[in-house]
Amino acid sequence: AAANVGVVGLAAMGASLARNLAHHGNKVAVFNRTYARTEDFMEHHGQEGDFYPARTVEEFVASLEKPRTAIVMVKAGAPTDQVINELADLMEPGDIIVDGGNSFFQDTIRREKAMAQRGLHFVGMGVSGGEEGALNGPSLMPGGSEESWERLKPILESIAAKADGEPCVMHIGPNGAGHFVKMVHNGIEYADMQLIAESYDLMRRGLGMTPDEIGAVFEDWNRTELNSYLIEITAQVLREKDERTGKPLVDVILDHAGMKGTGTWTVQCALNLGIPVTGIAEAVFARGLSSQTELREGAAAQHFSGPDAALDVPADQRDAFLDDIRHALYASKIVAYAQGFNEIAAAGKEYGWDIDMAGVARIWRAGCIIRARFLDTISDAFETGTADVSLLFAPYFKEAIERCGQPWRRIVADCAMHGIPIPCFSSSLAYFDGLRSTRLPAALIQGQRDLFGAHTYQRIDMPGAFHVEWEEPGHPEVQVSK
Ligand code: NDP
Repeated sequence: AAANVGVVGLAAMGASLARNLAHHGNKVAVFNRTYARTEDFMEHHGQEGDFYPARTVEEFVASLEKPRTAIVMVKAGAPTDQVINELADLMEPGDIIVDGGNSFFQDTIRREKAMAQRGLHFVGMGVSGGEEGALNGPSLMPGGSEESWERLKPILESIAAKADGEPCVMHIGPNGAGHFVKMVHNGIEYADMQLIAESYDLMRRGLGMTPDEIGAVFEDWNRTELNSYLIEITAQVLREKDERTGKPLVDVILDHAGMKGTGTWTVQCALNLGIPVTGIAEAVFARGLSSQTELREGAAAQHFSGPDAALDVPADQRDAFLDDIRHALYASKIVAYAQGFNEIAAAGKEYGWDIDMAGVARIWRAGCIIRARFLDTISDAFETGTADVSLLFAPYFKEAIERCGQPWRRIVADCAMHGIPIPCFSSSLAYFDGLRSTRLPAALIQGQRDLFGAHTYQRIDMPGAFHVEWEEPGHPEVQVSK
């Protein structure tokens, strides 16, 4: 036994993580179901560090120093269960199995329980940053026991991305907490990408700008409070030319957005918790609509009448209009993050995780896909306790959203009038206006529910539950409970 850590699964993520571990002085055992992949890995990267390639899972486990630490990076779902069980059969009490895949947090809770019964530590760990992040420094979100965290900490801190010198890793909480936070991270990523896509659509169809011109606008925006990885890569994609046709690459890519499930889970969990995550939900639905081929072709064949999406913005007002889009984007982005953090807080209560929200914002500042300048400010807001109920209440964000208010409204109204779909912009504004309303039409809904289903309602002027006997003459009200 010579390796202090092992990686199972040498596809894009596992290979990068194994190399990152080796680059930081770890002795790394590597194993992959198909040995050819291990051979390929050793051929290309074997000289980068101290690797111990194994042909079988038995060989892999035997090559690990005790107590053992194995990081699993295989396809989420059944393959992960299979690999974990194979490892567990060969491991001994006190060993740690880390699942770095995109596992559903309920699976992580189940697996942790099963492994704990066998005396093993099981850590579900969110890994963000894609292949490049895994290689050069990901943002890491480990769950699991305090004890396993203490043992993993030095290794994880060495390979994680650094933001202002601080490693982007923190013990999120017990059992499934790490995977839950990673899931919401991905949900926020969906919303962020959709908001950027809506901004692009406004410039492209609304203003008739070219991808190059729009790329330049995103480059400009990246020097503002919107500074983020996603804005940066958007400019890069828009500037790219297709090598076959010479056209902008974005014009030859089929407009069907794919997804692997984490966005959908984020919304499903939010629905279960009763937390509105309208920005994330609209982003997931927008991807769904984009891929509904039959529906979209059918709609095209209908030739529905309506505005043609061209906004009549005079040349001398274009810059002001672009500023409006930037403000609408920023405000909607703040809402999406606020909603994501609300979901994490609600899950923390529901599952008994004590999640440090400022810490979550801090470890998202580098290495991950949603890294952005304003995460510093988000972290400060939670640190000072001003964002406990909503990020929107923290003074900086309150001021920002108020400053963006008029432009945001102009954009949503213009898009509605000219037929440009902006589900994320408009649902975020509706959420904000819902929050601002001291009285919502939910009172009417309670009345309807009481009439057709005797669901009862509460009154504004006294405690208790009430019901109107709608069938009785004079509709008397009865108090159902105190
Ligand atoms: P994939 O999700 O494509 O999985 C491929 C790996 O899983 C291969 O090593 C494959 O082995 C192994 N595998 C599949 N089925 C089994 C099985 N039944 N038993 C044993 N091994 C199996 O790889 P990625 O590197 O893209 O992702 C790894 C994990 O990381 C996934 O859970 C993914 O969701 C997550 N993740 C991915 C990110 C990304 O950007 N790609 C970002 C963050 C997390 P074989 O070579 O034998 O087929």
